[in-house]
Formats: sequence, C-alpha cells, structure tokens
Amino acid sequence: MNAEIAALKQYCNSLVQYSRRKTIEVKIGDVPMGGINPIRIQSMTTIDTMDTQGSIEQTIRMVDAGCEYVRITAPSIKEAQNLDEIKKGLRLRGYNVPLVADIHFTPNAAELAARIVEKVRINPGNYADKKRFETIDYTEASYQAELDRIRKKFVPLIKICKEYGTAMRIGTNHGSLSDRIMSRYGDNPAGMVESALEFLRICEDEQFYNIVISMKSSNPQVMVQAYRLLVQKLEEEGLKPYPLHLGVTEAGDGEDGRVKSAVGIGTLLEDGLGDTIRVSLTEEPEAEVPVARELAKRYDDRVGHEPIAAIQHYPITPFDYNRRKTREVVNFGGSHPIPRVIADFSTKEKITPASCFALGYHYAVALDKWNITDTACDYIFLGDKTIEFEIPGTLGLIFNHQTWQTQRHRDRAYPLIKASDYHKGEVELSDRLNFIYTLLKDIDEAFLEKVKNEPTAVLFINTYNKHGLAEQRRLFVELMNGRCDVPVVIGRAYADLTSDQLQLYAATDLGGLLVDGLGDGVFIAAEHCGSDKFINDTAFNILQATRTRISKTEYISCPSCGRTLFDLQETTAKIRVRTSHLKGIKIGIMGCIVNGPGEMADADYGYVGSGPGRITLYKGKEVVRRNVPTAEAVDELVDLIREHGDWIEPAS
Ligand code: SF4
Repeated sequence: MNAEIAALKQYCNSLVQYSRRKTIEVKIGDVPMGGINPIRIQSMTTIDTMDTQGSIEQTIRMVDAGCEYVRITAPSIKEAQNLDEIKKGLRLRGYNVPLVADIHFTPNAAELAARIVEKVRINPGNYADKKRFETIDYTEASYQAELDRIRKKFVPLIKICKEYGTAMRIGTNHGSLSDRIMSRYGDNPAGMVESALEFLRICEDEQFYNIVISMKSSNPQVMVQAYRLLVQKLEEEGLKPYPLHLGVTEAGDGEDGRVKSAVGIGTLLEDGLGDTIRVSLTEEPEAEVPVARELAKRYDDRVGHEPIAAIQHYPITPFDYNRRKTREVVNFGGSHPIPRVIADFSTKEKITPASCFALGYHYAVALDKWNITDTACDYIFLGDKTIEFEIPGTLGLIFNHQTWQTQRHRDRAYPLIKASDYHKGEVELSDRLNFIYTLLKDIDEAFLEKVKNEPTAVLFINTYNKHGLAEQRRLFVELMNGRCDVPVVIGRAYADLTSDQLQLYAATDLGGLLVDGLGDGVFIAAEHCGSDKFINDTAFNILQATRTRISKTEYISCPSCGRTLFDLQETTAKIRVRTSHLKGIKIGIMGCIVNGPGEMADADYGYVGSGPGRITLYKGKEVVRRNVPTAEAVDELVDLIREHGDWIEPAS
C-alpha cells in the first residue's frame, strides 16, 4: 500500500471491506460504549428539567422505546441539582438508564451534574467562552494564554469526573464554535476538530480517558468530513481511539429530518465509524429511536459481504467536497452540475398521463399543457413498457435497448444497454445519449478506453453487493484513476421494504456517494416500498440533504429540550405552511436564544425563542426584530423575508 492511501485511509479501517473501527470502551453507568459493544441508541428529553415527574415519565417512554442513554439539559445549577430527583425517581421505578447532563456555558452546573449523573456533555465552543461573533487576531502567546484559561476552567470538571467515575462527551457543534476557533481555523471541519482536541489534550494530560466525542452539524456534508478528519487527527497525534457519538444536529422533522440524518449518520456507519447514534428530529424523542435503530441494524450482518478489490490509489478527497469532473452529455455533467433524477416505471401495470402527477408533472386539461414542479423528475425508465401519450418537453424516456428500437422515432427516447453488449459493439447506438448499465465487474482497461471515446455515453451503475456503497465507490475510483470523465447515474434497487426503511437506506446508499462529490444522476428502483410520489420525493430529498440540488425550502429546526420556549413541532408546521414554496431559502427555527443563534449555522432567516411568548427574528446572524409576541411572529417573519427580496407568492 502506498503512503498516500495509507494517510487517506486513516479515517476508517477499510474503504472496501466493512469493519467497525475499534475504539476504547467507555464506562457509562451499567451500559458501556465503544470497544466490542453494539452501536448504542440515545436521545434527549424535551421537557423542562424542573418538571421532575414529567422528566421521569418522558425518560421512561424513551427507555421503553429503546433508548440506552437519556440526555437531559442542565442550563443552570438548579436544573443540575434536580437531576438528582429525576434519577432517584427513575431508580425507584426500576429504570437504571444512564443519564447524561447537557451543559452549555455553565461550568458550575457541569461540576454539580458530574457528581449526580453517569455522563456530562460539554460543548467546547461555549464551556469556557462566550459567543460574541468577533474575529480576533491572536498571536501565539495570546492564543496560548487562552488555552491556559480554558485549562483552569476545565480541569476541576475532569477531576470530579475521575473521582465519581463519570463519563464525558466532548460535543462540538458546527454552529457554536468559539470566536477563538473561528478566528484561527474558520467555520469548517478543521475548526470543529481542533475545538474538541483543545479539550481532549487537557483530558489526556490529566489521564482522564472516559470520553466520547461528537462533531455535529446540520449540514451532513460538513458533519461527515468533520468526523473523518477527527479520526485522522486522533491517529496523527497518537491520541486514543475514543468512541464516536454520531448525529446531524437540527435535522428538522418528518422526511427531511430522516433523510438528512441518514445521509450523515449512514455514510459514517458504512465506513465502520460510530459507537452511538442520536437522530435529532423536531418530534417526540421516542420517534427518534426507531430511526436510529433502523440505521444501525443494517450493519448487524454486513461482515462477510462479497469481496471488493483493494484500492491502490484513492483519488477521492474525504475531508472536503470536490465534485468529480465529468463531460457534458445532453443534460448530464459538464455545465449541468445538477444531478438528474430518473424515475422507475418499468414495473408499473398501467401508465397514463395522470401517473406523471406523482413524478412532479401536473397536466392542466383546460390549458392542454404540463405544469412542471420543482420536484419533477428528468427521465423515466420504462424498461420494455411503452406509452402512447405526449410527454412534457423537459422529460426523457429510457427503454431497454430492444424496445428502444421500436420507440426511437419518439423525441427524447434513449436506450439502456448492457455493458457487455456495448463492449462487444454489437448494438446500435443513439446518436445523442446512451445509458450503459454497468457493474464494477464490467470495468477493465478496454471498457474504459471504449467508453472514454464515446461522447454519447452515460454510465448507469448498479450493485448487488451487500456493501453496495463501497462497491459503487470502488467503481468511481476505477473511472477516476482511468481518467474517464463519463457522467454516472447511481442506481440502487430495493424491494419489500417499509417506506421508512427505503428512505433511510436510499439516503445512506446514494447520499454517501453524493457527499463525496460522486454522481451525476440518481435512480431508485423500489418495488413494494411506497408510492411513486414517495420514491420520487425521496430522490429529491436526498439531493437536497446533500446540497447537490435544491428543490425546496430548508428548515434547520432544533429538536427542542428543557430550554425550549415554544411548541417547536407546531411552530415548525406553521412556518412550513407559509414558506414551503421558497425554494433555496434556509430558515432556522430554534427553541432558545442561548444556543439557537449559534446552532442555526448558515440559515438565511432565524426564528428564535427569546422569552416566554416572545420571538427574536434574525437575518443571517444579525438580530433584526427583538421580542416579537408569538402570535405575530410568523407574519413578521414573512414580512422580513419580503423586505429582503426573497419572497415570492405561492402558486395558486
Ligand atoms: S436550540 Fe433548541 S435544543 Fe438547543 S438548547 Fe435551545 S431549545 Fe434546546
């Protein structure tokens, strides 16, 4: 193995053979994490921590749903103290679940909580720092003085954790990096990793190792890069392989939250990273558990998959986003960087114009014209089916080669050709666009040479390997090393899954390649897994979550916790009703002003709880309206969007 691949590989055991990264075991009450323990599932209460009975009841519901650790916010000393009451109440009811105190800004609450609960989570961005959004010019000496100041504030907590056998999570959030880190490293994965390492080095100096680390972001791309970089830096500095807590923060609700979480968490699980999962949804905490379980369970029988050839030279950059450069073929690749969506109608019994509604095309009978929505697919794969009606002018049809020969008179009809047939040169080609159905085993030097010289070729890739993402990534490696810039549609086939499973699996399998800049199109074949609309929406949601094709408004809403000042689920729904047509706008909806503004990351507008019944509105990071009564806040948000020229009227 050459030095380059050895260096790049340091973020996981293997890029081609599934195996879980070996971490040290961390003791958290009676439920150890890391080492050979299974991937643990956890969540956080949303109820006020001072509501002892409510916290106990909610924790019990979470444990019964499958939570193995329960996190509870402790914003001040009084809540930290009340953790004792909650813990006693739970033990009396026979629940020994380890509790985790969630700390921001308040070392004194952390020091108290560490004497009571099994684990404390600190945020290195705000444990010893106040956030002022200032850029500071540090000298080496002044930076060192800052680190000394942190050490002084942090060591007392470490000592308490050592004395009481309490574990600690150093939980970096992309949105709440300290001004110090932002000034020196920037708002990026490198800054996130350094933020945790500053605290981790102090822990190791104090011989404290009962530690878990997280690198959360609401942007799955950033989150994936940060965890990978963290693993590489731990190895580089000779620090211990601490367990990783995986999560996409402020993921939102419903399908958006699930898809975003699966893209981030699933991509890392594929590489064998992750010892515990928290899926952050703006829903009841129990609703997070089945999602996390579903994500983790796919790896129970992953070991022993069909072998995939080793990689000698790895051309993909795992720590920052670089889109693979491809040549232009019709509307794939080149100057069309947007991945295309191909829907599957090849197994559909009857196809009529109305069938296209589910794929984002609405036929207006009175006007005799098609209305095309933002989630209209670009192509339909018909296999051996044919249709008689006129299709919208933006839509292409793909047929199996033999059937295409009977349909070639149609506009925008293209063939799908097996790689072996194409290679033998025995088939007639379209003079515009040919989809070549390709598996990794089809690729050799001669095939690459032929396809490189074929200006009409787009590879349509598939896999039958249980470790399919790795096999398809391996295929991209062959193309990149062979300097073959043919565009690629990533295809995956599923059958007999629940719609939840399909959403999570496809988001992992396709999203994991898209976050590495791979893929010029996506195709999901899913028999008995959900409606045509659901499958089409899932494809667009995956592209949205990977930020490769924006088709709707993005909501960065916090999962809520004991600090939350309004009903997040209800408010998110209200804001969604008014703004869901604002394609490309990002709206942060945050439960509290303590963490909300920092955690909104790169939202364009922010709606943040600033007191009971009061909302503060943001444009980017800037406060623009303070303490607006809740009843007026959604209207004010819409006005604000209008004032900044981002408003469009919804289609009637
Ligand atoms: S932003 Fe939301 S989840 Fe985070 S501390 Fe505030 S209320 Fe809790």
